[in-house]
Amino acid sequence: MTEIDRYSRQILFSRIGEKGQKKLGNSSITIIGCGALGTIIAAILVRAGIGHIKIIDRDFIEYHNLQRQVLFDEDDIKNQLPKAIAAERHLKKVNSSIDIEGIVADVNYTNIERLTSGTDLILDGLDNRETRFLINDVSLKHRIPWVYGGAISSFGMTMNIIPGETPCLRCLWHGANEKGLAMTCDTAGVIAPAPFVIGSLQSTEAIKILIGAEDINRDLISIDVWTGAFTHFKIARSSDCPGCQGKYEFLDAQFGTRTTSLCGQNAVQVLNPGLKDISFQQLEARLQAVGKVNYSEFMLTFTVDGKEMVIFSDGRAIVKNTSDESLARGLYAKYIGA
Ligand SMILES: [Zn+2]
Repeated sequence: MTEIDRYSRQILFSRIGEKGQKKLGNSSITIIGCGALGTIIAAILVRAGIGHIKIIDRDFIEYHNLQRQVLFDEDDIKNQLPKAIAAERHLKKVNSSIDIEGIVADVNYTNIERLTSGTDLILDGLDNRETRFLINDVSLKHRIPWVYGGAISSFGMTMNIIPGETPCLRCLWHGANEKGLAMTCDTAGVIAPAPFVIGSLQSTEAIKILIGAEDINRDLISIDVWTGAFTHFKIARSSDCPGCQGKYEFLDAQFGTRTTSLCGQNAVQVLNPGLKDISFQQLEARLQAVGKVNYSEFMLTFTVDGKEMVIFSDGRAIVKNTSDESLARGLYAKYIGA
């Protein structure tokens, strides 16, 4: 078997050809988040022969992931494998001729520059806005293109962000000033085809960007797999976008959630300056399908998977019975939305 055999059908596709295939083999990408989107992207791009692939994720696999996270199986759960490690093991069996590295880490402002250093492209397989804004900052600062993707319910969106050429994620969403609560897969649910389609579009754009195709997509693409609708939106660069003006507020940790372990209390406090004036009524409506919720004038108490969280109207939360800050930040991102 030669490499030409392995990729022959892709090389026959004239827009890639042998020249494009060589470029893919010499490319390096970083996939941040290995849930539904990340597993689809990794599965496609490992098979496509991208030379160096880094997959970063902080979570372990749970049964409710198997419905859509296509790289994992029941044995991975029995073996209590982190997603990044399970993904690496499965993918190495698919393509042993490339370099695949799974990294178990909570991506945050202290480590994202190191984790993405030297990469040609970042792919978003995340489930929270906060880390996306961090990717956006690191992309603009170090001029690394990235492909945004998100999926929830039966919907999804994707957009390419090429520093200096296209609008960025903060041109699209002002982010830090955004009021209200974001929906998450853990509260609104998701059907597998939504992330499958978005992950496939992200992978296609990744290949195009890496081979230097001139026709990369410059729109925000929004889909609904339930109705079969695909919609393109033209997004303009925002003249007052802090990111495009060189202010990397998420990377400088001016926004985004911060956690502090509360000594002696076995609890972690999560601060989220990006969220203000939470409506407990709205939050209760979202959370009551997944856990136990009660609220008073001053705080809302939510219990899920044996963990209790107390949320205050300024977005601050206390996660009880843990001293694990990464776990607390993960629960916050899952259920409150960061
Ligand atoms: Zn911008």
